[in-house]
Amino acid sequence: MKKNIRPEIPRKAIYRLSLYLRCLLRLKNNSIRTVSSEALAKAAGVKSTQLRKDLTYFGQFGTRGLGYDVDQLAHMISDLLGTNSLQPVVLIGVGNLGLALLSYKGFAAEGFEIVGAFDIDPKRRRDKTIATPLYDMSQLESVIQARMVKMAILTVPAAAAQEVANRLVAVGITGILNFSPIVLTVPEDVIVNSVNLAIELENLSYFVQH
Ligand code: NAD
Repeated sequence: MKKNIRPEIPRKAIYRLSLYLRCLLRLKNNSIRTVSSEALAKAAGVKSTQLRKDLTYFGQFGTRGLGYDVDQLAHMISDLLGTNSLQPVVLIGVGNLGLALLSYKGFAAEGFEIVGAFDIDPKRRRDKTIATPLYDMSQLESVIQARMVKMAILTVPAAAAQEVANRLVAVGITGILNFSPIVLTVPEDVIVNSVNLAIELENLSYFVQH
C-alpha cells in the first residue's frame, strides 16, 4: 500500500483491518464461505457501520444482500497489509527482550520472517540459542540492503535507540516497531509504532480501580 496515494486512511482503520483478517481466517478454517457485514463486525468487536466505512477506504468489497466472500476479502486485506508473502524484518538489540521475541515461532505464520538480528556484542553468551543469524552492528546496512528489508524491531536500551533508528532510516527502513521507552525522531515517511507494556499496564490499572 502506498501511503502517499491514500494519505487520508486513519491508522486505526489499518489496525482494524488486522482484526477483520483474523476473524476472516477463523471463518475460513471453519469452511464458512460468506459472511454478512453485521456478523463480521460483531466477531471483530466493531459496529457494522464502522466495518463498512473501513472497507470503503479500499474499494467496495461486498455484494449487496450476499455479504462478503470470506476467502476473497481475506486475500484482499492480506494484500493491503502486505502479508500475503513473507516480509523480511530485522531485529536490533539481542538482550532479554530481543531474545524472547526471537524465540517466538509464530511470526512466520503471520507473514513475517526475522532474517537477521543485530547487536553491538553478538559474541556475548546468551541464555537461549536462536535460529536467526546474529550479526555485529557493522553488518547492519549490508544485510538490510541484501535482503531488501523495510521493517525493523528495535529492542536496544533507550540511550542507543535514536542513533540506531537514524542508521535504519538512512539505509531505507520505513517501518520501526519500537520497544525502547523513548519517542523516536524520524522523517515523515517513516512509521514508528511504539509498544510500551508499562503504559498498557497503567491503563489497565486505571480501569481495574474505577
Ligand atoms: P538488555 O540490556 O537485556 O538488551 C539490550 C541489548 O541491546 C543488549 O544485548 C545490548 O548489547 C544491545 N545494544 C546496546 N546498545 C546497542 C547498540 N547501539 N546497537 C545494537 N545493540 C545494542 O535490555 P532489555 O531488557 O532486552 O530491554 C531492551 C529495550 O526494551 C530497553 O529499551 C527496554 O527499556 C525496552 N523494554 C520495553 C518493554 C516494553 O514493553 N516496551 C519491555 C521491556 C523492555
